[in-house]
Amino acid sequence: SEQPLDGAVALVTGASSGIGAATARRLAREGAAVALVARRGDRLEQVARDIAGLGGQAAVIAADITEPERAEDAVQDTLDQLGRLDILVNNAGIMLLNPALHSTVAEWDRMISLNVAALLHVTHAAVPHLIYAASTSPRQVADVVNVGSTAGRVAQPGSSVYSLTKFGLNGFTESLRQELLGERVRVGVVEPGVVDTELMNHLSDTVRDAARRRIAGIEALRPEDVADAISYIVTRDRRVAVNEMLVRAGDQT
Ligand code: NDP
Repeated sequence: SEQPLDGAVALVTGASSGIGAATARRLAREGAAVALVARRGDRLEQVARDIAGLGGQAAVIAADITEPERAEDAVQDTLDQLGRLDILVNNAGIMLLNPALHSTVAEWDRMISLNVAALLHVTHAAVPHLIYAASTSPRQVADVVNVGSTAGRVAQPGSSVYSLTKFGLNGFTESLRQELLGERVRVGVVEPGVVDTELMNHLSDTVRDAARRRIAGIEALRPEDVADAISYIVTRDRRVAVNEMLVRAGDQT
């Protein structure tokens, strides 16, 4: 049967787990062919099998997008394997919580290089192809969806540099949105609250325990809940542009 994203190609960064994996599966269900980008190839293969099982099409692109050349190649590989690019979901991100006093600059650099630099490199490579897709596809529109965070709206202790990356992402998103208006490339940001993913796995035991205590009693969002928001944005008719969606867990302050 006909699906809203039939014929479209989506690239999802960070598609090996959490929000990215759920989004890739969801966009495939909406009819898109999906390029799966992350470092863990085995996990991407699993997501690709899930998509094939749904009758969809996926391309596995194992890449560390913090290497600028790999970020650019990820976009080119998508074009080579799936033929076009209609939807870019910039989802890959890392959150290394720690008060500034106890952080290393290496932790800060890792967040900047993935949440900011890698996102910019992928986006820069993708935009010309998105413009072309918008002007040639039956949808007559293309999309960039950036995954921000409530930490990009509200700053808290322990997340100074993570908040820097996500507050900054909102500014980048809004400026790019205005720049691409005439090209019919929509640019928006989804800002999830607490989501049950592997994001906290990268924290030290003590920092993770403290973070878990802060969110104890809150029923976390599921990755599928965020995939739902992203799917809503990219399946709208071209006359509709959803610029921003803040999606908190029901019990979250
Ligand atoms: P996960 O840790 O489950 O997912 C992160 C993804 O990023 C993984 O697929 C990981 O794959 C990928 N990634 C990490 N480093 C690289 C790299 N160098 N190159 C390519 N891919 C990379 O966490 P989430 O699903 O929660 O995170 C997704 C996004 O959601 C992030 O931007 C995060 O900031 C945001 N977010 C999450 C919230 C939450 O509560 N979970 C709340 C608000 C926002 P691999 O390791 O295989 O490379």
